[in-house]
Amino acid sequence: MSDCIFCKIIKGEVPNYIVYEDKSILAFLDIFPHAKGHTVVVPKRHIDTYFDLSDDEMNKLSAGIKKAMEKIQAVLKPDGFNVGWNQSPAGGQVVPHLHIHIMPRYEGDGGGSMHSIVNNPGDVKVGEVAKLF
Ligand code: 5GP
Ligand code: ZN
Repeated sequence: MSDCIFCKIIKGEVPNYIVYEDKSILAFLDIFPHAKGHTVVVPKRHIDTYFDLSDDEMNKLSAGIKKAMEKIQAVLKPDGFNVGWNQSPAGGQVVPHLHIHIMPRYEGDGGGSMHSIVNNPGDVKVGEVAKLF
């Protein structure tokens, strides 16, 4: 997509720092990092969300995430990771080109876990929610 910042990065029109690249994906350093080595991994095809991935693209993206994590592990030696994506504005997605955040974690960095993203379970019991599936 011509006005997409991540498509511009993929095409080399906007400079970036590559962590890992292959035919299907590009992993590059986030310009406003929340951790040393904060990386985003994008499929080279412009799609908005995870729902738009084919199974083949999903497998290639997953493999690319692992390669990028292995590189980060070798270079920066973090103590752990959080890996995930913000989906849709309600989930905090700002750039509408699917991207997976890799957040290296370091002992004592003051960050939280997935559980610190939101704490709004509502008043419907888990058993009632289960019945909806
Ligand atoms: P989102 O909130 O959509 O999940 O995250 C978008 C991420 O892209 C943010 O962490 C932001 O810092 C990063 N970002 C936005 N524009 C650029 C850019 O031009 N270059 C790089 N490297 N990262 C960007
Ligand atoms: Zn794009």
